[in-house]
Amino acid sequence: MSGAFGTLPVAPSGVGRLRGDEPFPVAARRALGDAQLRRNLGRATATIRAKRARVVAELPDWEELRAAGQAIKADVLAHLDGYLERLESEFAGRGGIVHWARDAAEANAIVTGLVRGTGAGEVVKVKSILTDEIGLNDALAAAGIAAVETDLAELIVQLGHDRPSHILVPAIHRNRAEIREIFLREMPGADPGLTDEPRALAEAARRYLRRRFLAARVGISGVNFAVAETGTLCVVESEGNGRMCLTLPQTLITVMGIEKVVPTFADLGVFLQLLPRSATGERMNPYTSMWTGVTPGDGPQDVHLVLVDNGRTAALADPAGRPALACIRCSACLNVCPVYERVGGHAYGSVYPGPIGAVLSPQLTGIEQNATLPYASSLCGACYDVCPVKIDIPSILVHLRARHVEAARSPVPGAEAVTMAAAAYVMASAGRFGAAQRAGRLGRLIGRRGRIGRLPPPLAGWTAARDAPVPPAQTFRQWWRREHGDPL
Ligand code: SF4
Repeated sequence: MSGAFGTLPVAPSGVGRLRGDEPFPVAARRALGDAQLRRNLGRATATIRAKRARVVAELPDWEELRAAGQAIKADVLAHLDGYLERLESEFAGRGGIVHWARDAAEANAIVTGLVRGTGAGEVVKVKSILTDEIGLNDALAAAGIAAVETDLAELIVQLGHDRPSHILVPAIHRNRAEIREIFLREMPGADPGLTDEPRALAEAARRYLRRRFLAARVGISGVNFAVAETGTLCVVESEGNGRMCLTLPQTLITVMGIEKVVPTFADLGVFLQLLPRSATGERMNPYTSMWTGVTPGDGPQDVHLVLVDNGRTAALADPAGRPALACIRCSACLNVCPVYERVGGHAYGSVYPGPIGAVLSPQLTGIEQNATLPYASSLCGACYDVCPVKIDIPSILVHLRARHVEAARSPVPGAEAVTMAAAAYVMASAGRFGAAQRAGRLGRLIGRRGRIGRLPPPLAGWTAARDAPVPPAQTFRQWWRREHGDPL
């Protein structure tokens, strides 16, 4: 089925785009070979890191704010059902219509049905990672409806027939010259003399999008926060495109993950301080849009809210993994992660890349479908240090690794289990351990300059990515005996 941007693949139903096509190690190895990608990522993440550090340092009560954000989110997750019911009744009481979707397929069917009901063949969209998660654009395309991304970076990704690689800066893997080429190739009416100056690129996008905004009858948005006590939805953004989508069309459909609810307006105040400083390194977002149901004669008159589960209640059921649902999608953890900085977002396969993706995606899909992601970390802890809601990502990673090992345990022991059992047998006896050490000294015969580059199976996995040190000429026990005269 074709839309404004040509033929698009149709996403599988169910989990949407949470599952990668190939394991992380395979995709990461390929990404590491792309020097241009590493340069683009290195430059962009270093810039955002520095900005964030500057504005965070301005607030003497930053740690108190983080603790408040963590406490509010913990309360929300502990009483999610009650807050969602309150949100539903407040939103509906002010003229909005609430829909519930168990998974991606249900959410896509609801949104597609609503758009069809208006007779529109095109919708304008505010950047929404949840709609990426459920594969909404592909589902709309399959129904003959073109979805136009209006966030500049999302537009670059869409025109480039590409995938987002960062939560906040989806085209972070592209540089200015690449963006100019995409615009010239794909943007109808682009000026052939277009330069790669940021101002010129933004102006080209602005002219292109303005026509779409003015023609749009349906807008689709995500949501950053939803206030239960008033039924108010909130979207923050930097470009003003969101404000256009939220106010110009007659019909507004908002797609929201059920974890985005906050209890009160006062709680919202905490997150509106934490999010911009952590995300873009700004003191506040340039545009903060809020709407509460329908305002007669002003803005969209047909207002919907689609509440999406898609694996979230399963994550909620695991007390050790649950804190990942507290994420406010600031992307600070991506920008400090040494793994993300080198491989970029595509290697993670999921729409949620970086440290948060490594803990969220396996929980949303079930660990077996994203089994390699919890290992995509050095466990350095930098993500925990910057997280504005203090999600202990390293601990969740370790927990998910344990869950994966348990899930993968087979009645027939694998190579790793056999190796561990053999090691346990050898180490249980001083005699056997000494004999193994003497045998290990044979490794000195194959070492070069103090290193062994390749070991035979089952140890080959160790030397596939690193050298092993050559065993010392004498063991500690031998040294002890020589120095002290008696055995240990
Ligand atoms: S896990 Fe924390 S740092 Fe990472 S995106 Fe979510 S809120 Fe931001």
